[in-house]
Amino acid sequence: MVITPKIRGFICTTAHPEGCAAHVQGQIDYVKSKPRLENAPKRVLVVGASTGYGLASRIVAAFGGAASTVGVFFEKEAADKKTASAGWYNSAAFEEAAAKDGLSAKSFNGDAFSHEMKQRVIEAIKTDLGPIDMIVYSLASPRRIDPDTGEIYKSVLKPTGGTFSSKNLNTDKKLIETVTIEPATAEETAQTVKVMGGEDWNLWINALAEAGVLADGFKTVAYNYIGPELTWAIYTDGTIGRAKLHLEQTAREINDRFGAGTALVSVNKALVTQASSAIPVVPLYISLLYKVMKEKGLHEGCIEQIHRLFADHYGAPEGPKLDDKGRVRIDDWEMREDVQAAVAGVWDSVTTETIDDVSDFAGYQKEFYRLFGFGLEGVDYGAETDPVRPIPSLR
Ligand code: NAD
Repeated sequence: MVITPKIRGFICTTAHPEGCAAHVQGQIDYVKSKPRLENAPKRVLVVGASTGYGLASRIVAAFGGAASTVGVFFEKEAADKKTASAGWYNSAAFEEAAAKDGLSAKSFNGDAFSHEMKQRVIEAIKTDLGPIDMIVYSLASPRRIDPDTGEIYKSVLKPTGGTFSSKNLNTDKKLIETVTIEPATAEETAQTVKVMGGEDWNLWINALAEAGVLADGFKTVAYNYIGPELTWAIYTDGTIGRAKLHLEQTAREINDRFGAGTALVSVNKALVTQASSAIPVVPLYISLLYKVMKEKGLHEGCIEQIHRLFADHYGAPEGPKLDDKGRVRIDDWEMREDVQAAVAGVWDSVTTETIDDVSDFAGYQKEFYRLFGFGLEGVDYGAETDPVRPIPSLR
């Protein structure tokens, strides 16, 4: 079939297999263009490994440090003339490229929140891999089924203080409008913490430890976002921010149990991913930020960010550099004063008419399409293509 993008709000319901493969290959090429990583982990588990920051983590570990990787994700296979999801095609392309380079890669598709998935992964580590020395926890999910009670928790993106009104970019219609969001109830906040907080991260580490499949001195990292004040009401001070506080608390608990420096939270840059495009206000901020960072030669994508995390922090002889709250800050370039001053300088004045002049909305959109494998150079989008692509290790 000929595959074209079908956008519904902040999601694209189709994905292009060759395009996703080209997207993955571009990230692999970037990592290979850099020196081999120092002190790189050798057996890496990535939970949330098929898109965004998790996929970049898997690529950096494998192609930058020659690690064997286990990837867990929740993606859709192609069926009945429907394409697979982008993360499915990304993972198929990742495994093919890994096999070509003689790198071991095993993938698991299903619910990472379940006990069953944890046990399946543990069995594979026992039989095929050997003790894991790094766990990257990079899940972004709108819901979680409690593995013990079966209760379904839903995460919401809402402020926790009062009603919040802000400028917002309607990415579908390319309109600057005002968005008003009522604050979350205490129950909604609690459920968001259940989904996006650290409870499941802790369950993974405990399950792996109890099964005896963690190497001595193992490391684990999860990702957070902070950003500038203009996004705080919806992010840092909102329901998701509460969940991220729990994630940071979980890192401290893991460190109390396994030793200081075992668990880290890395604060990453705002980037276009499937998860971030669903957050109100953030797409406008990203469009303005991209323009400023590109002009200053500071722009990075997921792969550049995670390469910096592994090379400059984990690879440094003195270990990761931490802020006063014990976090790694690879959002340092985003948060530079001159960058934030430039973004703030246009925030109040940007209108629908000036979007193209003062923001990089074109870059935002291009990046969004690329997440689903569209707009990649060298791909013949007019050609018939088979949507069915196996992920070799799932066979
Ligand atoms: P993403 O949507 O690109 O990736 C989410 C991953 O989670 C995918 O691999 C998906 O398959 C997997 N997943 C979701 N539900 C699952 C389930 N039930 N079982 C198994 N796998 C499941 O998201 P992302 O933007 O890369 O976010 C990853 C992390 O990085 C999140 O913690 C996010 O808060 C953080 N972060 C994102 C940004 C950003 O701007 N995108 C910035 C800083 C930090």
